[in-house]
Parts: sequence; structure tokens; C-alpha cells
Amino acid sequence: MKLDDARRLSARTLALLLATALRAPAQEPEAIKARYAEIATRITAAALLKNDGYARLEELCDGVGSRLSGSPGMDRAIKWAESAMRRAGLDEVRLQPCRVPTWRRGEALLELLRPRREALPLLALGGSVPTPKGGLTADAVVVRSFAELDALPREGVEGRIVVFDVPYEGYGKTVQFRSLGASRAARKGAVAALVRSAGFGGNRTPHTGALRYEDDAPKIPAAALAPEDSAMLGRLAAAGAAPRLTLELSCSVGPDAPSANVIGRYRGRETPEEYLVVSGHLDSWDVGQGAQDDGGGCVSVLEAVAVLNRLRLRPRRSIDVVFFTNEENGLRGAHAYRDEVAKNPELCVGAYENDGGVERPTSFLITYPSGESRPSRRAAPDSRPSDPATARRFDRFAATVERVHGLACGVAGLGGGGADIGPLLDLGIPTLSPRTVGTRYFEWHHTAGDTLDKVDREDLDRHIAAQAALFYIWADLDERL
Ligand SMILES: [Zn+2]
Repeated sequence: MKLDDARRLSARTLALLLATALRAPAQEPEAIKARYAEIATRITAAALLKNDGYARLEELCDGVGSRLSGSPGMDRAIKWAESAMRRAGLDEVRLQPCRVPTWRRGEALLELLRPRREALPLLALGGSVPTPKGGLTADAVVVRSFAELDALPREGVEGRIVVFDVPYEGYGKTVQFRSLGASRAARKGAVAALVRSAGFGGNRTPHTGALRYEDDAPKIPAAALAPEDSAMLGRLAAAGAAPRLTLELSCSVGPDAPSANVIGRYRGRETPEEYLVVSGHLDSWDVGQGAQDDGGGCVSVLEAVAVLNRLRLRPRRSIDVVFFTNEENGLRGAHAYRDEVAKNPELCVGAYENDGGVERPTSFLITYPSGESRPSRRAAPDSRPSDPATARRFDRFAATVERVHGLACGVAGLGGGGADIGPLLDLGIPTLSPRTVGTRYFEWHHTAGDTLDKVDREDLDRHIAAQAALFYIWADLDERL
């Protein structure tokens, strides 16, 4: 902590830090395991026996539906979330307002004109500008990487529609073509960009998602193709058939609109001003129901706390359940939250986000705010920090996770976090997330097929049970993780 920051600390906070320092010495991993063995078993058993997670998710998916931030659906979702948090037994429920972009998809049409006519399914990318009314018609130029695009002469791209037919090699690696492809193509004079969806193929389904226009490039319309159609255009181009396309998008951008994060506190029994953040994002894309992304994540963290409430279990510190707005296309909710936490960052002992789908959980991952473990989102799941101080903290975390046993979820690793809680790392707050088997998530992610039926009840139960035990222990430990 810098001296300036220390001077800004309130007297109350200083007293709290002093009290923490005077407590018993750090619990060793074995002591943590022994102390929480019985209670962890009680919590997970109770959660597996009965929870309302699936019923809550049904209310959100079928009752509210899709909820792009800034849309009437998201406004309904915020009202639902306030009610759901109250029903779950949270003590204080409030809205944290912020303004969010408003983007409307409108209609989308894509027709192959040459070598034969066929309408192809597509989804505009979030934030895309529209085409001129009546659409635009141009030859397609198909590339499989940015290097291939860069190697083309300008006259080979100018006036054409660039198709990024890049095979899916994992979300982190492939999503850059969706985010940046339009601007990269526009710099060479392209009139539109089409990207192979960042996800698994198999059902000829396009996956939407946000794009990012760079300031130095003209804004051109952009949309996602189903992997199957992208591959077909690639084959036609390679065979010399010179595919020609007509594209029409009628997306629109309105003025920023009011929205809010929904925050509920489950008050701690000893130091309620200290808190753990457990979160998901309430907004979703406008196609599908946002069941896996991220209705399931939201419901799972809320229901984990509801289980503690039903058992009348209060950890030492508070647990704040946060449903973020605008994760999908702006992170305005995440920034509003970070700004609030930044006023007293020492009160926040850690942040957890469940935003990778609610397939069967396998492990919990952590990222520490400093040291060599910081850039470790891609670290091996069984890695351990090499600097001794962080390694000692990590061993306490591993002991905590090991207590969440019986759920095939007792494995700890490095690399946890989430888009909404990422900014909290800069405030010195460690971030956590679950890892799942991830078998089918990227088949549904950002598609019209992300609907309630894709969520398996038993998998959701496991998230709730494992999280309930983890949150309790984490918020109750003598010393911070
Ligand atoms: Zn998400």
C-alpha cells in the first residue's frame, strides 16, 4: 500500500486492519482442513439435497428471456434479480446505477450470388454499423489469418467483403478475429467483414459477440457466419469459384441508457464491513436465453448463499452477491463496481465470478494481484506459485478447496478470474473462478441455442454445493486467502 493510500484510510478501517493483525497467527493448511471438515460436508449435503437453483433459472430464462443491456429485457431482469435476492434471504439489496450502450440487431440477410444462389444464416456482431439500405454486393476474399490479410495487395481487398475463415482453436485464441477483424479489413479498404463464429460448429449456427472498432479505421459492417458456411466460402475461393455476396444489416445504435448492477449483501457475523464478492453477469446476448452465459452463473452464486441462509450459517465476513450489467458489450457495470470498491479496497477480501457456463465443475482457480502469478490466466491448472509468500497463501487456498470434497471439485490451480472482476486485481484483490469440463459450452455460447434445456440440473447442483462450501470457508477464515 502506498503512503498516500494509507493516509486516506478511515479510522474505522485502520482499527479493522489492526484487529485483523492481532488475531491468531495464520492457519496452516492442515488446520483449515480439520476445522472446516464437518461444516463443509453439512453445507454440500444440504445443497445437494435441496436447492432452488433450477427454479430460479427457469424464472430468468423463460419468464424474463434474453437481456441485452440497455434493452427492456434487461430492465425486467434487474427487477427479477432484486426480488430473487430478497427471496434468497440477502439482508440488503440495492441497485448500483450506470449508463450502458444501446445497440439493436435489426434484420440481417446474406445471400451467396455466385457460383449459385443461397441464403446463408448469419448474426451481426454486437456494435456493428448497418450496411446501406438495400445492402451491399461485393466479391468475397477469404483469409485464414491476419498475416494472410496483411500479405494481400490493397487492390485485392479494396471494395470487397473479407471473410475470416479461421478454424476455432479455443476461445482465447480465436476471438481476436471477431473483435478486431472488421478494423483490420477496413484499413485495407474492405466494405464489410464476415468472421467464422468463435465456437464449435456442428449445427450450422452462427455465434454473435462484440466487436471493437479501432479509432484509425473506417467502421464497416461485420457479422458472424456459421462455421460450416465459412468453410464452404473458403473451399469455393480455393477452387477458383470467386464467391460473390449480398449483405444487408439494419443494426442501430441509440444513446446510452440507464442500467444497473444488482448487489445483495449477506451480512457477516463478526466483521460485516469486510466482504467477499461472488458474481455473474445478468446481461446476455439478444439471441437465445442466456442460460449458460450467464444465467446459470448468476443463479448458482445466489443459490449458494441461499443455502447458507437456510442453514443459518453466517461466516465471519459478509458475502456480497453481484449481478453485473453490460458484460457482453462494454463492461460499464464492471467499471462502476470497481470505482466503488476503490474507495475502500482493503475491505474486499476477494472476488469470484462464475462465467464459463455451468457444466460439471472440476476445480477452482485463483489469480493473485501481484507477483509472478498475475499473468497466469493461461497457467497450467495444476501450477503453484513459485515465490514463497504467494505459495504459502496458495496452500491455504488449496486446503480450502480440498474441503469442498465429494464433488470432483477439490482441485485448486492458478488462473481464475472473469471479465467483470478483472479490474479488481489492480486494487490488490485476488480473483477466482470455477473451471468446468467445458465439453459443450462453446457449442451454445452466444447462439440462439443458449436456452434453459442446455443446463443440466445435476451439474448446476454441483456448482451450488461446491460454491456454498467454498464461500463459507473463504469468508470465515482467520486470515485472508
Ligand atoms: Zn458470459
